[in-house]
Amino acid sequence: MTTTERLIASADAYGAHNYHPLPVVVATADGAWMTDVEGRRFLDLLAGYSALNFGHCNRRLIDAARAQLERVTLTSRAFHHDRFADFCAQLAQLCGMEMVLPMNTGAEAVETAVKTARKWGYRVKGVPDGRARIVVASDNFHGRTTTLISFSTDAEARTDFGPFTPGFDIVPYGDLAALRATVTEETVAVLLEPIQGEAGVRVPPPGYLAGVREVTRERNVLFVADEIQSGLGRTGRTFACEHEGVVPDVYVLGKALGGGVVPVSAVVSSREVLGVFRPGEHGSTFGGNPLACAVALEVIAMLRSGEYQRRATELGDHLHRELGLLTSTGHVTAVRGRGLWAGVDIAPEYGTGREISERLMDRGVLVKDTHGVTVRIAPPLVISKEDLDWGLAQLRAVLGVD
Ligand SMILES: *Cc1c(COP(=O)(O)O)cnc(C)c1O
Repeated sequence: MTTTERLIASADAYGAHNYHPLPVVVATADGAWMTDVEGRRFLDLLAGYSALNFGHCNRRLIDAARAQLERVTLTSRAFHHDRFADFCAQLAQLCGMEMVLPMNTGAEAVETAVKTARKWGYRVKGVPDGRARIVVASDNFHGRTTTLISFSTDAEARTDFGPFTPGFDIVPYGDLAALRATVTEETVAVLLEPIQGEAGVRVPPPGYLAGVREVTRERNVLFVADEIQSGLGRTGRTFACEHEGVVPDVYVLGKALGGGVVPVSAVVSSREVLGVFRPGEHGSTFGGNPLACAVALEVIAMLRSGEYQRRATELGDHLHRELGLLTSTGHVTAVRGRGLWAGVDIAPEYGTGREISERLMDRGVLVKDTHGVTVRIAPPLVISKEDLDWGLAQLRAVLGVD
């Protein structure tokens, strides 16, 4: 038995089977590359679902974490600590907003946004108690908690997990007329991913986000943008909403905010909105802890340089040009996405998404399939053009192009 086989058998024996990982066991990683327990190297074209936008073990982020590890790592929010104010101020500034409520995981931040929108609805908008509704999109992914799966349209995510939380209206993603028709006086928020990640990197039709902005402004409804996967450089802008010149009322951030080092998430909004909270009404033991703040502050500083957004734009243009060629040869039926982010639908005669992912793994490239036919490509934004080209050459090889 190889080390890989032994560790996978043990993971299967003792770890719950809530994932179906590719059969590779990573031991170390650096930049866009991972090395497994057998010493084989793999190019990471998934980047932890965008949690690793700045690459594995990014020096600046590891140094920031290490420095903070030697000072103080956790205080709880019962006391102030000396990284919190800077973190909130600088994240608010990066977002062009006023206030920050830090949490840890993405799901917690979306939960927080749901609670924020409801409280704002009752306290500010004046919705009668218990009547608040939130409009969401079909094929959404906002996390795995009981409330968030209550408005999922994915049977796998919901089956056997009811009863569900009421108060959500689901409309088809990208359908502005349906959204407009669903908003009522009791609607407190529209919650959307500006680009749907888990759904296969689905970009809404042009004008959709701007239309949602218009409807929500007209109807006094909060526009809550879940930028957990689309945000922080991935699409070539700090926020995917920027591609349509849209500023939502609330950003929900996570994944890359923790630099691939620690889980950091946040809800970012105005004082009118986040000002609804009073002590004791919401919280998290680990949310906004010193280590998280130190790492996130470095992430924010890196994003402020614009360097990563620029890379995502330039390499993303190249990526989409190259993937476009596979559409013209018929190996791929569709390519969606923006920046260094693509959902690639494989033509069925060349294999399923899973099969392509496994064949790529055998050639030293790691990606992940979604929804059967789709392979998601989201390299760390620090990937070199040469490495990206090498990865694309492996994709052509497994598809039998050239
Ligand atoms: C990953 C993701 C989440 C959930 O984040 P977790 O940290 O896994 O809880 C929520 N929304 C979007 C858009 C995501 O991509």
